[in-house]
Amino acid sequence: MHRTYVNEDITVFWDSEKCRHAKRCVTGSPQVFEFGRRPWIDLAKGETAKIWKTIESCPSGAVSVVYNHGVEIRLEEAESRAIALLGDEIIGECDYAEEGEYVNIYHTHVLPEYGGKGIAKRLVYKVAEAAERKKKGILPTCSYAAKVLA
Ligand code: SF4
Repeated sequence: MHRTYVNEDITVFWDSEKCRHAKRCVTGSPQVFEFGRRPWIDLAKGETAKIWKTIESCPSGAVSVVYNHGVEIRLEEAESRAIALLGDEIIGECDYAEEGEYVNIYHTHVLPEYGGKGIAKRLVYKVAEAAERKKKGILPTCSYAAKVLA
């Protein structure tokens, strides 16, 4: 399962299949990370710097984090895409096609000047999360998406 949790400053990624249940997150920031609660990660319950430090202690990479850099990620289902917006400018895009029980993520692109900020990963997770919430399988034919979701 892939999920993102967003506050004004950061985006936290959660990949449930990588979790080794070492509980460093739960002990590091117990208000933020609480197994059994929905959502189990609540960024409003902690300070960004502490959350960041806690996530760095995760031994499996099941949780990871990037700064938002003022970039908003928006899902546009009518266009079968997620876009990255900096103000009014589209600086990245992840395109997909619904193919029966699967969502094929076939293209991910971020303008080169905005590379290295985790924007492409945010885009892929946005599409993956939406697909999983609709109980669809994910078929990442985009090689970048395949790597992110592996
Ligand atoms: S620290 Fe990482 S591996 Fe451990 S329970 Fe939390 S998310 Fe899972």
